[in-house]
Amino acid sequence: MSTGLVDSASTNVLPLALDHLYPIAVRGDGVWVEDSAGRRYLDAMSGGSMALTLGFGHPEIVAAMRSQAESLAYVNGERFTNPVREKLARELMTVAPEGFTRVRFVGGGAEANEMAIQLARSYHVERGEASRWRVITPAQAYHGPTLGTLAMTGRPGLQRPFDPYLPSQPHIPPSTSHFDPSGQAALDALDQIIEQAGPETISAFFMEAVSAAALPGYSPPRQFWEGLAERRDKYGFLLIFDEVVTGMGRTGHWFAGNVTPATPDIIATAKGLGAGYIAIGAVLCRERVYEPFARGSRIWNVGHTWDGAPVQCAVALQVIEILRRDGLINRVRERGETLRRQLEDALRDIPMVGEVHGHGYLLGVHYVDPRDPSRFLPPELGVAGKIDREAMARGLITLSTMPTRDGFAGDQTLFAPPFITSDDDLAEMVSRFAATIRQVAAGIEPALRGPVTAGGTA
Ligand code: PLP
Repeated sequence: MSTGLVDSASTNVLPLALDHLYPIAVRGDGVWVEDSAGRRYLDAMSGGSMALTLGFGHPEIVAAMRSQAESLAYVNGERFTNPVREKLARELMTVAPEGFTRVRFVGGGAEANEMAIQLARSYHVERGEASRWRVITPAQAYHGPTLGTLAMTGRPGLQRPFDPYLPSQPHIPPSTSHFDPSGQAALDALDQIIEQAGPETISAFFMEAVSAAALPGYSPPRQFWEGLAERRDKYGFLLIFDEVVTGMGRTGHWFAGNVTPATPDIIATAKGLGAGYIAIGAVLCRERVYEPFARGSRIWNVGHTWDGAPVQCAVALQVIEILRRDGLINRVRERGETLRRQLEDALRDIPMVGEVHGHGYLLGVHYVDPRDPSRFLPPELGVAGKIDREAMARGLITLSTMPTRDGFAGDQTLFAPPFITSDDDLAEMVSRFAATIRQVAAGIEPALRGPVTAGGTA
């Protein structure tokens, strides 16, 4: 412990990666984290998970939390409602896409996604269409680590070794700019699934409107959105958005679903709702999804201990108040475009950098093999891991992934700073990031001198 680093032999915690050395974070201030050895890290990832949208140590959130904990910290939803839950529900309806009227609170992202799936299924059952249960999703996705959400990704790398527990759900390939720029191949795959499975078995199409870690900053092309909306109307399934990351301003809108060409029927959200101060998620739906319950069984009997607890709702209400008052969502929308250009300019002359894209403060950097930019980097080089380690050494928190073996994407980095980051700190993040990428690119250069032998097509 004297180095200020914890390894798996010196802890009782079961860490995420047993070979990783973990610094001990002891305090946070704005967009800076400090560890027990006094090292400071600039947070380009909003608390590491994209949750901490308003930075560390926000005094108004702390005050709201404290005040609610003093008056009524917790009461279960089975016997009572509470004023903050009621108010939060009303507030969310004012920023959700038009036609949304109901919300159910949960404890986090995976819970929200699972409940969204349950809500869609129950909607069909209430309407007398009990054959509808399948949920179609884009394969290159991450929706959480629970068994229900792991079934919603088409990535064997994430599903193993839990695959025996996972119901088989159909997936379509993502229409990325290289594989399927028009989105037609994805629509053809969707048609094939609907035909083979039978439209009467499809409950929902489930997706991120703008992807986070799985395909940073990616959103499907317009033709895909329009084709998806047409098929939803024709076949009667629901459209669910996983807005666990994108909800509450991340893409420069309250919800990505406020502006997508196909409007969702159900939205699951989480991270930014509690802004990293408390675990809270929410499932929002249109009146037409709620209506069959109102006319039918009049019961929605699925819930968790923490659903809608006052202290959680008080934090979320304060988050909404700050986002509104400080105009932060407009800032993310406008400043995000400049940030994307800053990143592009800083990385332009590095041959392994393929694309920089995204919306608001949800940006992705995608890497390619410099010898043949139509291919991903060879996975054995472990570039994503190298980037995150080098960035940490330079005092920058990033999140890179390498789903190359799943076949749809290569090494990539997500860039998702807190909304309150100053222009100077954004510039410093970009500068540290560019230095990181240069260093890693120089380090792998000798390994890339030979002919292209491995790595998938980019
Ligand atoms: N959906 C997306 C898009 C995510 O990025 C995550 C987490 O990173 C989840 C769902 C799961 O959320 P949670 O970790 O709160 O369960």
